[in-house]
Formats: sequence, C-alpha cells, structure tokens
Amino acid sequence: MQSKYLFVTGGVLSSLGKGISSSSIATLLKAAGFKVSILKIDPYINVDPGTMSPLEHGEVFVTADGAETDLDIGHYERFLDTSLEKSNNFTTGQVYLSVIENERQGKYLGKTIQVVPHIVDEIKYRIKEVAKGNDFLVVELGGTVGDIEGMPYLEAMRQMKHELGFKRVISIHVTLIPYIKAAGELKTKPTQHSVQELRRIGISPQIILARSEKPLSKDLKKKLALSCDVDDDSVIVAEDAKSIYQCPLNFLKEGVLNAIARHFGMENITPNMDDWDVLVKKIISPKNTISIGFVGKYLDLKESYKSLTEALVHAGANLDTRIDIKWIDSEKLSQENIAELSDVDGILIPGGFGSRGVEGKICAITYARENKIPFLGICLGMQLAILEFLRNVVQIKEADSIEFNPNTKEPAIYLIEDFIDQNGQAQIRTHKSPMGGTMRLGEYECILKKDSVIYQSYNKQEVIKERHRHRYEANPKYKPMLEKYGMFVSGESKNQLIEAVEIKDHPFFVAVQFHPEFTSRLKNPNLIILDFVRQSLKNKK
Ligand code: GLN
Repeated sequence: MQSKYLFVTGGVLSSLGKGISSSSIATLLKAAGFKVSILKIDPYINVDPGTMSPLEHGEVFVTADGAETDLDIGHYERFLDTSLEKSNNFTTGQVYLSVIENERQGKYLGKTIQVVPHIVDEIKYRIKEVAKGNDFLVVELGGTVGDIEGMPYLEAMRQMKHELGFKRVISIHVTLIPYIKAAGELKTKPTQHSVQELRRIGISPQIILARSEKPLSKDLKKKLALSCDVDDDSVIVAEDAKSIYQCPLNFLKEGVLNAIARHFGMENITPNMDDWDVLVKKIISPKNTISIGFVGKYLDLKESYKSLTEALVHAGANLDTRIDIKWIDSEKLSQENIAELSDVDGILIPGGFGSRGVEGKICAITYARENKIPFLGICLGMQLAILEFLRNVVQIKEADSIEFNPNTKEPAIYLIEDFIDQNGQAQIRTHKSPMGGTMRLGEYECILKKDSVIYQSYNKQEVIKERHRHRYEANPKYKPMLEKYGMFVSGESKNQLIEAVEIKDHPFFVAVQFHPEFTSRLKNPNLIILDFVRQSLKNKK
C-alpha cells in the first residue's frame, strides 16, 4: 500500500500532549498489523537539541544511530517498541542548513532561494523519505498553529494534501477545551479560532482531538463538530488519563480508528491491544509498591529525566509494582541528612553533567554500598561509583574526574584522545572541540562478563547493545586497584573501555556507563532497570 500521512498539529497552547497523542495513534495502527513510522518536526532554529539546557528543553533523547533528538522521540520508541533514527526528527535549523549547503554548491542553478518553493520542498522531501516502506507515517509538528516558525511546515502539509489527494493525507488537530470554573462550563471557542487559523492557511482538519479535564456532553461534541466542520464522530475526546499508556486505549474507545479508516476509505482497522491492556491495568492498580531514592540535580524539571522515570514505570508494570520515586536533591545531601535514604528500597543515581551536587551523590553511593541497598548508577552515576570506591575503599583520596578537577593527580575518570566510533572512524575528543560535538553518542556493543550480576540481568546475553551520551570515560589504569578491593569490571566495549562495574560483596550494586533508559519500552522493559526494581522489591522495607 502507498504510504498514507497523518499530520498532527496543535492548537490553543503547548503542552497538550501532542507527542503522546501521536504515539497513541501510531501504536494503534501498528497493533492492527500495519507498518508505521513517526516523525517529529521541531520548528526551532537549533540544529539539534544537543546544546540546549535540559532545564529549558527537557531531556535530550539519543537514538541508536547517535542523534540527539527531542524527548518526544523517546515517547515514540517507548510506545511503538521500535528504534527510530536520526531522520525521524528534524528542525528548522537542519532544513535551512541543507538548503544553504545546496545553494553554496550551486545546486539551484542561479535561482533566488525562497521559503516557497525551496524550504518547503526540502521539508516535503524529508517527510517523504521517512514514509518510505511504511503504510502510515504520523507526522507531529511541534509548537502551536499560528507560530511564525511553523508556517513553512503547514504550507508543506497543505501542498502534500494537494499533490497526494485526501485519500492519502489526513489532518488531526489537537486542541484544548478549557473548563471555566466560575461559569461551570467547558469552552469550545479557542478550538474554533485555532481551526479558523488552520483554514486560513488552507488546511481543514478531519479529526479534532479535544483535550479536556472533564467529559464532553453529546451536544458539546456536536457543536464542536459543526463549528470545526468535521464529522460528529470525528471529535475524539482525550480526557486526562491516569497514565499516558492509557491514552491509546481511550482513543480506541472514542473511535479514532473508525474516523481514520473512513477518511482513507479503508475497511475497519482492528488492533490487538490485549497485552497492552494488561500492562496498563498493572500500572493503574498494582499489587506492590516500592520506594526508590532518585538522587539527582535537575529536580526542578523532572522532564530532564523522562526516559528514566518512564523506564521505571515499564519495569513496575512488568513486575506489578508501583514505584514511588523519592526525589533527593544531590546538592542538599550530605552525611548530616543521609538518613533521608533510610526508608527507600533502592537507590538510583542518574546521568548528569558538571560538578554541582557530586559530593551529595557520592554520599548516597557510600550509603548504598555500606548498607547493602540495591544500587544502580547510570553514566555519571557509574563514574561516581568508581570515585567513591577509590576514595573510600582503596583509599586513593584524591581520585577524581577531570570534568570536576582538570588538574587532578588521580584522573580515574578522564578524557581519551583517540576513539573509534561505530563506523570505524577515529574520533578525537578534546576539551577544545566545539560544544555538542565531542561526546560519545549512540549505540555501542558491550561485552558482559559471565559470573556477573549484569550478565544474569540481561538473561545471560554475552553481548548487549546500549546507548551512550557522555564525554568522559573510566580510566583502565585503576582497574587492577578496583578489582583488588572487590569492585570489578563486568562490562567492556570491544576496545576495552569500561562500560559496567559491580561490587562483589553486595546483593545488587551495578553501575553502567551507558544509558539503559533509552532502550526501555512498555512492552519490552530494559533488563538492567527491571532487575534493579526486582531486587529493590526483594529488599522492601
Ligand atoms: N558528565 C559525564 C560525562 O560527560 C557523564 C555524562 C552523563 O551522565 N550523561 O562523561
């Protein structure tokens, strides 16, 4: 079947959950047996979000092929249980960069370069490339209709509908139906205005996905359908859900697939969501509850730990367990108040950058090590687990990372100069490289040591693949000292970089250089995170 396109735009305001809505629709189509892919367009000018502050933008999600992408790509992977690529997310910066490079190479034969047609053509080209080989491509446009940056994309969508016809293109508009307490009423006016704005550009949506905190009456739905000129049953109400993973099930009940099938002239689309349904029930009313101490630094914006908190939800769903995260600000943690960790069942140290909060994290690691509390350290968490062990067990008091102390005499975490990336190319990493370009990014193989906990956690796979995002590495010079005192290297890359360490005399003390959270999906939870949660459940107080 020729690819069909579902364009998802947002109206009224941002943060309506367009990413979850797009993921939910794609999930249903996939569960009905179709080949589905999904694309996020970010209208901002940055070439990628790699250089954006996590406090401003939330998490940077890393794909297997090493792209730093928008956090919505993470939602897509978690819902669709599939690995996406660099091309599944692009920004205005990338579009202009390509067009300008083409212009510099003389590819436009002396023409004046304009938004229409050149920028719009580049956008259409990129969209069509991702659709290749798929029955459906869901395209989510970031931002809100009316934003200046979004204009060329809406024009591209309009043109694609003109070129391919309405049997291959559908427009889905996600809007808000606010509830005005004083009047006791749900209001449709903002949605009407937003649809008018879309029409001004030449796009008439076929489906309205109405986000609302309360159910919509039949009459209100009818009114919305009439004013937005869509079929009555093409107003899909997306009420606030208890879990984001409930959304595909809610959309299905609301009949979103009927509206899509009718528009495309297809027979009924019937997905099999049985497994999904079981997992969602376990998220909403689980048998067990545990508490995990999450010792991090970006606590003001929890979105920057999105993949990790979702990975905990996945592990919990698969173990019928709710995980209450106890957020602990590493900058405020010290020996004096370490008792804050006395009531948690497991301790987790996520990734991070810079020296702020490092000493607090080290205190938490000492506590987990000495009190034999299940511990998982991720990326910076592994680097700090090594420093803690060197300082407090091996007694190399000055052990440090050159990230925090560039002149340290004991650089246990250091920068390596030559690095062979996954394409076999030498990558030189120095402090002087421009920001964003010096990190080890994307998926790498890790060889696990038999007789280790991690090997058991990964179901005795000898080689696993996980994703990275960091500049520094553990210095192998310290490996003999660590091993002599009981911390051993349980995972290594092909070229002997240290990828995982554990402590022998401890029920579960595992720290990894990679980010396991990037490969966790609801139906396929990440195995080391799953085991960490399982061990924490065993340790339940
Ligand atoms: N700051 C550390 C590094 O760059 C760890 C990064 C991370 O945790 N993602 O190596």
